[in-house]
Amino acid sequence: MEQVLLVRYTEIHLKGLNRPYFERALVDNMKRALRGMSPKIEREHGRIYVRNISEESFPEATDRLTRVFGIHSVSPAVAVEKDWETVVAAALDLMEKRLDETGRDVSFKVLARRSDKHYIYNSDTINKELGGRVLDRFPELHVDVHKPQIKLSVEIRDMAYIYCDEIPGANGMPTGTAGKASLLISGGIDSPVAGYMMAKRGLTLSAVHFYSYPYTSERARDKVVELTKLVSRYAGEIRLHLVPFTDIQMTIYEKCPEKETTVLMRRLMMKIAERIAISEGAQALITGESLGQVASQTLEALCVTNDAVSMPVFRPLIGFDKDEIMDIAHRIGTYETSILPYEDCCTVFVPKHPVTKPKLEELRASEAAVDFTEMIEKAIENTELMVVK
Ligand code: ATP
Ligand code: MG
Repeated sequence: MEQVLLVRYTEIHLKGLNRPYFERALVDNMKRALRGMSPKIEREHGRIYVRNISEESFPEATDRLTRVFGIHSVSPAVAVEKDWETVVAAALDLMEKRLDETGRDVSFKVLARRSDKHYIYNSDTINKELGGRVLDRFPELHVDVHKPQIKLSVEIRDMAYIYCDEIPGANGMPTGTAGKASLLISGGIDSPVAGYMMAKRGLTLSAVHFYSYPYTSERARDKVVELTKLVSRYAGEIRLHLVPFTDIQMTIYEKCPEKETTVLMRRLMMKIAERIAISEGAQALITGESLGQVASQTLEALCVTNDAVSMPVFRPLIGFDKDEIMDIAHRIGTYETSILPYEDCCTVFVPKHPVTKPKLEELRASEAAVDFTEMIEKAIENTELMVVK
C-alpha cells in the first residue's frame, strides 16, 4: 500500500498541441511548491500523481498544491494492487478511519471509475459490490447516491486508487505560461488580489511599490513586502521593486493644481512602473483599480492614467464590488495584512476636491509644466530590488 496525492488539472486540456508545454510548466511549479519534500511526480492520462511524500507531510503537501495555479483538485489517496480483495480491504480501512472522524450516523456512496477496461468488474459492479461490503462491515451507514456525506472513490488504473476527499485547487493556468507583467502594489486590499488574479491566468509577476519616506513609515513598507510574500505563495517568486517617490510627490503637491494631484501622481507612477517593467522583460502592467471606486478610478481618470503609458494595463478588478474583492482577499489570505493601519503614499496627500472627470489635455499640460525627467531618473536609480519568495 502506498500513499499518493492524485492531482487533477484544469483548462490545460483545451490547449491542443501546446498541451505538453502547459503540463510541463504545471509539474515544474508543483515541484517548486513541494520543495524540501522530495516528491516523485508522474504525469499520466490527464492526471498527475505525487508519490514519495512522507505521511506526516501529506496535509502540508496538499495545502501547498491547492495554491498551485492550474490544479483543479487534489485527492490524498491510497494506492494498492488491483486484486479485488486487496481493494476491498483498503477501502474498508479508509472508511474506518473516516468514520472515526465523522461518527457512524452518516450516508455514503461508492463512486467507481475504471480506465483499465480489462478489469474483472465494470464501474457499476464495483459500486454495488463494494457498497455491499461497506454495509456488511458498517451496518449503521446508509446509502445516498445524490448527496452522500462520504464519497468513497475507487479508480482502477495501473493500480487501484482509493480516496474520500477531493480538495478544490486554485484552478487557473500554470504560472509562467502566459508571459510576465508588473503589478503596482500598494498596501491596500485591492492590488494583492489583482496580482493573484492575473497570476492565476498564467502570468509571472514582478511588482513595483512606491513609498514616500518620511510620510510613509518603514512599517508600511514592510507590510507591502509581507503582502508580496503572501501573493508569492500562489504566484511563485516575485521581484519587488521599491521606488522612492517622495520628491516626485512633493513636487506635484507644490507645483500642480491641488485637485489634479492624485491623477498626476498616478500618471507618474505608471510611467516609472512601465520603465521598470520593460527592464524586467514584462509586457503589461497590473493595477487593483475598480471602476468608480474612488475619484481617480472614474472612466475619465482611468483614461488619463492610461495615457501615460503605452503598455497594456490589466485591471482584473474593474467590474468588481469592494465586497467581492474583500471576499477574495479573505480566501487567499491577504485581507488581514491589508487592513493593518499604515499610511500609503496615496493616502498621504489627498486633495479635498479631486477632479472626477479630468480632461486629458489639461492634465497633460499640468504635467508638462513641470520637468519631472530628472526626478524620474533619480527614482529609478534609487529603486531597491527585493526578491520575494
Ligand atoms: P489598493 O487596495 O490596491 O490600495 P485603492 O482602492 O486604495 O487600492 P488607489 O490607492 O487609488 O486604490 O490605487 C489604485 C491602484 O494603484 C492600486 O490598486 C495599485 O495598483 C496602484 N497603487 C496605489 N498606490 C500605490 C503604491 N504606493 N505603489 C504602487 N502601486 C500603487
Ligand atoms: Mg491604495
